[in-house]
Amino acid sequence: MAVSNIRRSSAPRIAVAGGGAAGLSAALALLARGAEVIVIEARGRPGQGAMWASGGMLAPGFECAAETDPDHKLAEAFAALCARAGRVWPEFAARAEADGGAPAGYARTGSILPLSSEDETARFEAAAAQAARLGIPAERLDAAEAARREPGLAAVSEALWFADDGQVDNRALGEALARAVERAGGTLRCGEPATGLIETGGAARGVVLASGERIEADAVLAATGAAAGLHPALPAITPVKGQMIAFSMPPEAMPRAVIRGFGAYLSAKPGGRLVAGASSEPGEAGLETDPATLERLAQAARRIWPALEGVPPSESWAGLRPATADGMPALGAARGVEGLFMALGGRRNGVLLSPLMGEAAAAAVLDGALPGWAAAFHGARDGLG
Ligand SMILES: Cc1cc2nc3c(=O)[nH]c(=O)nc-3n(C[C@H](O)[C@H](O)[C@H](O)COP(=O)(O)OP(=O)(O)OC[C@H]3O[C@@H](n4cnc5c(N)ncnc54)[C@H](O)[C@@H]3O)c2cc1C
Repeated sequence: MAVSNIRRSSAPRIAVAGGGAAGLSAALALLARGAEVIVIEARGRPGQGAMWASGGMLAPGFECAAETDPDHKLAEAFAALCARAGRVWPEFAARAEADGGAPAGYARTGSILPLSSEDETARFEAAAAQAARLGIPAERLDAAEAARREPGLAAVSEALWFADDGQVDNRALGEALARAVERAGGTLRCGEPATGLIETGGAARGVVLASGERIEADAVLAATGAAAGLHPALPAITPVKGQMIAFSMPPEAMPRAVIRGFGAYLSAKPGGRLVAGASSEPGEAGLETDPATLERLAQAARRIWPALEGVPPSESWAGLRPATADGMPALGAARGVEGLFMALGGRRNGVLLSPLMGEAAAAAVLDGALPGWAAAFHGARDGLG
């Protein structure tokens, strides 16, 4: 059985299990702080999990106003976390592009939440009220102003505008981050999952791969997305399946902003790809798509963006959002196993939150504590199972 324990330096050696949004971002943050990093990725290439499947929206505004349970005890902390993530994205994307030598397609486009029919009024008003309560910058637009900002939008009676929202080309970003990790001296070990920990005296000292190979390290960061946990000390994660479609469209016929309808959202990517999503199927772990769900999505997309009438989807796929029991991220040290850390539970916003999940993971591993802004999301909190 091979043991990969050759130390190149006296720097701490960190094994990151999972090369997705959280794992790649954490690897970069750890490398920037002088650690030696090996990323173990089950698939043939990093960034092919939920990160690849996602809509790539960076939407602290509408996600916290329209998608976060107002009674959740972490609702305010989550809104602050998302807002912080929105602020770090311009620099994070620029660094990923420069260090990875590839475009990431980041743009602060704003997002628009249209009120398209009377039966959406209650949810629309609730989102407006929640934005006000959580201090999320949101502007109320009348029908004419909504049409001026998004001329291709179906007629609406009014809309909410979140100027701080944006998007990224998530598939390109995965590639840029993976290259940046390699260029910064990190090792990508792809094609085989980590199946467990090397434990010495109750401490995590590396991971064991499916082949039995042992990768020794001073600490292990679990960033395995929606996959089953590496160790019982980690919080339980439930997959929330999301099915998506994309349409091919001339760039001039695509929305400028992210459109957040109540039945579907639309996000325009480079190269004439208009992404529409997504279903939300808690507990579903398969990646198959079903025609009825895809058709519902296509119809919802056409209702808010009439230029899609008669345009068939050019692509469909599914991915798995990683959700903790309380739906919020789980960061920092695991309870009871020294040297075991986590960056888990990005759920609907794991791309948006990835720069902060990476930074928080690096601080937990190297400083022994989460930064203050991440403390509320420590993974040893009660109720995570
Ligand atoms: C349909 C859909 C739409 C979404 N839209 C958005 C959006 O618009 N904006 C947003 O911010 N977020 C969005 N998300 C959520 C976002 O994609 C996830 O929260 C985020 O990708 C989670 O990052 P992660 O690193 O935890 O998981 P992933 O990105 O899935 O990465 C986990 C990685 O770990 C690997 N892995 C798993 N187990 C092991 C193992 N044992 N050993 C080694 N490797 C392993 C996997 O192969 C994978 O590459 C969406 C998700 C879906 C499914």
